[in-house]
Amino acid sequence: MSQNGAGTLIKTKPRCERNRVLVTGGAGFVGSHLCDYLVARGDHVICLDNFFTGSKENIAHLIGKPNFEVIRHDVVEPILLEVDQIFHCACPASPIHYKYNPIKTAKTSFLGTMNMLGLAKRCKARFLITSTSEVYGDPLEHPQRETYWGNVNPIGERSCYDEGKRVAETLTMDYHREHNLQVRIVRIFNTYGPRMALDDGRVVSNFVAQALTNKPITVYGDGQQTRSFQYVSDLVKGLVTVMDGPEIGPFNVGNPGEFTMLELAKLVQEVVNPNATIEYRENTADDPKCRKPDITKIKTTLGWEPVVPLREGLERMVDDFKKRLGVE
Ligand code: NAD
Ligand code: UDP
Repeated sequence: MSQNGAGTLIKTKPRCERNRVLVTGGAGFVGSHLCDYLVARGDHVICLDNFFTGSKENIAHLIGKPNFEVIRHDVVEPILLEVDQIFHCACPASPIHYKYNPIKTAKTSFLGTMNMLGLAKRCKARFLITSTSEVYGDPLEHPQRETYWGNVNPIGERSCYDEGKRVAETLTMDYHREHNLQVRIVRIFNTYGPRMALDDGRVVSNFVAQALTNKPITVYGDGQQTRSFQYVSDLVKGLVTVMDGPEIGPFNVGNPGEFTMLELAKLVQEVVNPNATIEYRENTADDPKCRKPDITKIKTTLGWEPVVPLREGLERMVDDFKKRLGVE
């Protein structure tokens, strides 16, 4: 409460010393690194997660900090909170995980995003959606710019995720247009680093774990398909830069270095275990043949670009994987 010039008591919003930030999916790989960054910056961070693919170990070191709290909740259900910013990361991201229960993945993408947008609208919070390079599908434009509309199979095994993220972007823009909500859209390209789930089947975690445990490195298909790999600390800085910046986006956030899966396998051999062998396996359906971000937009408008090269990033994740795999 405060007094206006006429001596009348007027109701004012209680002052919160810290920026209150909700990170959905905060116990996951990306979300937990983002929580680390925001807690260290001094924000009041609420980590919300249903622990489908996330884990308490990822955030255990933050428990007990005065500016960090955890809520077990599924974003498919609405929730009442008071926040200033929402980083919406809740969604399984690895193909094995999102194909495990595709209908739930689609519900998380649509209903989950709608609920978090509704929360942002009620709180007048700024909302950032962690979308994906998968919205470009099996791209016919290379490298991919944000202006490209994509080449996505709407009825394939990957559609629950690809189309889910596309509709999540649509909802985000419609809340902006209809309700004047402050929104940000980030399209994340393949990201790797410590805390990736050991069993998530993504290529970097698979290759590193296989090399460390003397199992063959499994290259799918002919290994000529390409991806661009970004280290997680670069992504976290990209997310915060977009959230705090003046433009909606969408912004590609990724590392433009492009590698075939065979090149990645050979690099993992060099960095992790020169004795590891390579084995070819049948590829999965609708696997995109190439992917590489054009990051001109975020570089020129917000000054962000990645700084960690792939070799260095792989070296940085080895200790964490060794510890969790129980190998020397
Ligand atoms: P992750 O699986 O490690 O994290 C996702 C988190 O969301 C987990 O903690 C999981 O338990 C939680 N979650 C899932 N469904 C939920 C629900 N219904 N309610 C509440 N919580 C739920 O994946 P990640 O790699 O950390 O990805 C985080 C976000 O970034 C995802 O939205 C993903 O689509 C996006 N993304 C990631 C990558 C990447 O390479 N890591 C690439 C593109 C986009
Ligand atoms: N891949 C592979 N071996 C593995 C796992 C994945 O060769 O053990 C390939 C997969 O076929 C794809 C690429 O690596 O071409 C990236 O797969 P990932 O699941 O990491 O991410 P995506 O970009 O497909 O979502």
